[in-house]
Amino acid sequence: MERKQFQLGDVVQMKKNHPCGSSEMEIIRMGMDIRIKCVGCKHSVLVPRAKFEKNMRKVLRSTAIMVEDPKTNE
Ligand SMILES: [Zn+2]
Repeated sequence: MERKQFQLGDVVQMKKNHPCGSSEMEIIRMGMDIRIKCVGCKHSVLVPRAKFEKNMRKVLRSTAIMVEDPKTNE
């Protein structure tokens, strides 16, 4: 099973757009649940980790110095 990697501060692209039209979310809190903030309208939502991983498409910008970029074949 593919494991998605993300960390606090990352900007990720979600599979579904936010109602404001933006699909970019910034991870602002991590734990059992993950709090993400919409880049477009700054609205934040708390989602269970499993749901977040399911709805996340990819990491757009990472705070990590160097992140391995696995080739995704969908
Ligand atoms: Zn939004």
